[in-house]
Amino acid sequence: MKTHNKPLVIANWKMNLIKNDAIELISKISKLDDISVDVVICPPDLLIETIKTHTSITLGAQNCSAQAEDFGAYTGETSAHMLKNIGCEYVIIGHSERRKHHLEDNNSISAKIANAHKVGLVAILCVGENLTERQSGISHDIVLEQLSVLPKTSTKKNTIIAYEPIWAIGTGKSASLTEINLMHKYISVLFENRFKLVYGGSVKQENAKDIISLEQVDGLLVGAASLDFEQFYKIIK
Ligand code: PEP
Repeated sequence: MKTHNKPLVIANWKMNLIKNDAIELISKISKLDDISVDVVICPPDLLIETIKTHTSITLGAQNCSAQAEDFGAYTGETSAHMLKNIGCEYVIIGHSERRKHHLEDNNSISAKIANAHKVGLVAILCVGENLTERQSGISHDIVLEQLSVLPKTSTKKNTIIAYEPIWAIGTGKSASLTEINLMHKYISVLFENRFKLVYGGSVKQENAKDIISLEQVDGLLVGAASLDFEQFYKIIK
């Protein structure tokens, strides 16, 4: 069941765009006056402050440190506190690319969510099965296990769940409407409709409307298509 009337569209820019290109893109998005959804943009950390000076659109980060401290000898890390301090309101946690390339596991993901909650950031927890797991019929078990990291502090206000089947991310092949609805229904029944649920995985202008219209979908997490102004505009208008 939808938990929110206005859909939420989260843009994950990943490791893309340099300063001037990012300013150009955010300036165009900010000028739009016919947007029908709530938008959150998640640029690379380095660009967040710059972007903030060019838009009033809500911003998020793509990751935060798992360390409990706000500051410390953790080379290369950015704490949830630092993100909050520069104006972020959301943070993506446990994206499959981070699970794969940075070996993130349930322990670090759970610590990151706790850190986000502690400073008042909304945690966007990404979950989803890979192709082998889907073909073996264990998608629900995998997602259930990934959801077990949610701390008791998780509420509708501070946590969003993003269902992102790994086989659909960046492949151009989105999950089918039935597959999306079934998994979202599974999660929403599990948590008695407590969290907003967004779908991510090859969302583009051609499929965005159909996906967002699904009864169980509260919004979208968009990667590649959020980097192209025309595409993104068609998704959010
Ligand atoms: C993502 O990585 O979160 C994502 C949804 O990517 P894409 O839209 O490019 O599949």
